[in-house]
Amino acid sequence: MPELPEVETVRRGLAPTMEGARIARLELRRKDLRFPFPEGMEARATGRTIVSLGRRAKYLLIDLDDGATIIAHLGMSGSFRIETGPVAETPGEFHHPRSKDEKHDHAIFHLEGPAGVSRVIYNDPRRFGFMDMAERTALDINPFLHGLGPELTGNALSAAYLAERFKGKAQPLKSALLDQKNIAGLGNIYVCEALWRSHLKPTRAAATLATKTGKPTKQMDLLVTSIREVIADAILAGGSSLRDHIQTDGSLGYFQHSFSVYDREGQPCRTPDCGGTIARIVQAGRSTFYCPTCQK
Ligand SMILES: [Zn+2]
Repeated sequence: MPELPEVETVRRGLAPTMEGARIARLELRRKDLRFPFPEGMEARATGRTIVSLGRRAKYLLIDLDDGATIIAHLGMSGSFRIETGPVAETPGEFHHPRSKDEKHDHAIFHLEGPAGVSRVIYNDPRRFGFMDMAERTALDINPFLHGLGPELTGNALSAAYLAERFKGKAQPLKSALLDQKNIAGLGNIYVCEALWRSHLKPTRAAATLATKTGKPTKQMDLLVTSIREVIADAILAGGSSLRDHIQTDGSLGYFQHSFSVYDREGQPCRTPDCGGTIARIVQAGRSTFYCPTCQK
């Protein structure tokens, strides 16, 4: 499942093609993905201009010039790719390269931009992704976006804010960090990475990083810094692999990069002079990887 850095990487990859482009046609090739496409979405999007491509947590926000926003989620296996140049009009004859799994191309934005015509194609073999459409002024009450905590890449996420949220909470620290009401968009992999980087044990109570009056401890400061760093590093890594991708087949897929602790059960801890071995436990049905030696 893509985590926030992957979604942000996809957003940055699509933005130059989508922003400022006119949607000559939105083509939906089926009625639904995980959920039905909203009624009238094709008609409403067709002819509109995309004013900006944003992101909220793991949702892409395609802002149209009539005040509507298309909300897109990649689910488990969703991806976008960009094709440029005109498509052959001859029925049954296709002059542009066809991807192997074109049967999973479910939504196609036919675009006219300053640089010519292009297609942004949403492909999703497992169809856990979905799209919704809402008025921009009503995004806060959209069922998918309502109640999300602050963006972890924005200024609203601070040690002071989290300390206030975690005050008195006996909940394990890892679970509290995964709660989207506390922080929007933080997922399993990067919680493990941030906890390892800040030497904090995933099972300790969330309240141990706040004083009784809800002020942040030094460890909370370190944790928030670590969260920002792991996400920034991952976005940077995604950006470089994305450029490679575009040069080959135009796809904006996911990227693999090496994690410090995630998926490294039984391997030596990478904290200098630690000497510990990475362990795996299960918390709330999800794997947690951590070092029992240096994470306290
Ligand atoms: Zn260690």
